[in-house]
Amino acid sequence: MPYELIVVGGGIAGLTLARRAHDAGHRTLLLEATPRLGGALHTFRPTADFWLELGAHTLFNSYGHLIELLALTGLDGQLIPRQSLPYRLWTERGARTLFSELRPWELLRRGWQLPFRRRDGQSVAEYYEAIVGPGNFAEVVGPALDAMLCQPTAGFPADTLFRPKPRQRQLPRSFSLPGGLSTLVERLAEGLEVRTDAGVESIERAGTEGFRVRCAEAQWETERVVVATGSEQALRPLLMVAPGTAGKVGRIPLVTVESLGVVVAKDQVKLPPIAGLIGRRQPFFSVVSRDPIPHPQLRGFTFHFRPGLLDAAGRRAAAAAVLGTTHWEAEAFAAHHLPSLPMDHHERIAAAYRLLPRGVGISGNYLDGLSLEECVRHSQALHQQWFSAPVSAAPTASSEGRYRRTVMADPKS
Ligand SMILES: Cc1cc2nc3c(=O)[nH]c(=O)nc-3n(C[C@H](O)[C@H](O)[C@H](O)COP(=O)(O)OP(=O)(O)OC[C@H]3O[C@@H](n4cnc5c(N)ncnc54)[C@H](O)[C@@H]3O)c2cc1C
Repeated sequence: MPYELIVVGGGIAGLTLARRAHDAGHRTLLLEATPRLGGALHTFRPTADFWLELGAHTLFNSYGHLIELLALTGLDGQLIPRQSLPYRLWTERGARTLFSELRPWELLRRGWQLPFRRRDGQSVAEYYEAIVGPGNFAEVVGPALDAMLCQPTAGFPADTLFRPKPRQRQLPRSFSLPGGLSTLVERLAEGLEVRTDAGVESIERAGTEGFRVRCAEAQWETERVVVATGSEQALRPLLMVAPGTAGKVGRIPLVTVESLGVVVAKDQVKLPPIAGLIGRRQPFFSVVSRDPIPHPQLRGFTFHFRPGLLDAAGRRAAAAAVLGTTHWEAEAFAAHHLPSLPMDHHERIAAAYRLLPRGVGISGNYLDGLSLEECVRHSQALHQQWFSAPVSAAPTASSEGRYRRTVMADPKS
């Protein structure tokens, strides 16, 4: 077989796996449907010394697996700490502090339940309304969670959010990289064999041991294949080779986030320095600011809009209303996709793993949490399982117990 591994999807999940396999000496090919690697890691660089994230913004010192990747790519000594700045709610009355919008009596009546309440089996709305009260959930906590995940989160399983992870306290609590997070994408891709504009249409068996991976204009053969696309996007590549898995993950909906990044001269904007704005009953879920990594002349703001609501002119008008200016130095637009996790998520994913044939793997942000760390963790675990163990230990039709032990196990926990 020409390749030992083909990875479908060039986001952080696919890049991590391809890089690990390549470094371990396995013949690896990475296929990405669009002209750009990175997926939801997407830095806009309008000038030589200013950048703004259109997708993911922040890395944390609790991202242990991702920090290992930074060491692998030589970026671990170059972290740029993010200054601690406040988030504000953006309401019909302008910017408000979160505290000023909370209803203290509701909090006092219910907040004591926090240490005793279990999250498993509860939706985000059920869990948080019980702790903070329905008013606080509707006006503050719900919009804040929606802002964090750039989509409505009320129906998410509550136990997929805020999992405690050990912090590496010698590192800044939250940080970025020189040139933004796309620098990690560029470092991971160094030396890899990559085809962009190569959307995989199908994967089928080739002989008894291998697979044929087809795009519109080319095809390749490989011993193993991993689909690291978004959830719904995995349906087509997996359909022929793993129909059961395709049926489970292909029906986890993807939502689109429409992001407008705007760069303005410092003296044009009246907003005080902020980490970001949480939209309450606004066309955007959030506005994330570059202020935590200040620049002497420029400020940057990325508006994450609800999908399908506004056209380009409408988005610009909404951004101008918040910033109080239309004098922009630069702007960029991007659409990214995120999974919307259903309440039966854990059962669905366990079944998706059970139904995987030998030699086929899945990775990505719909498996167990949307953060970059979870994507890296899954891909590193899959690499370890496939390439650090004999072939017979490949993740084939594994039971749920085995899936949890081998694919979800966090070596640090
Ligand atoms: C606006 C926004 C802000 C975020 N902020 C943060 C943050 O601050 N911190 C954090 O930890 N996380 C954050 N996240 C979440 C995190 O960025 C994503 O969950 C993560 O990057 C997803 O990586 P992935 O590789 O699973 O998927 P993706 O990044 O979606 O990559 C999948 C790739 O597969 C490609 N593809 C799809 N179909 C095919 C096909 N048939 N053939 C070949 N290629 C295909 C796609 O084009 C894409 O490049 C944010 C996400 C968004 C959208």
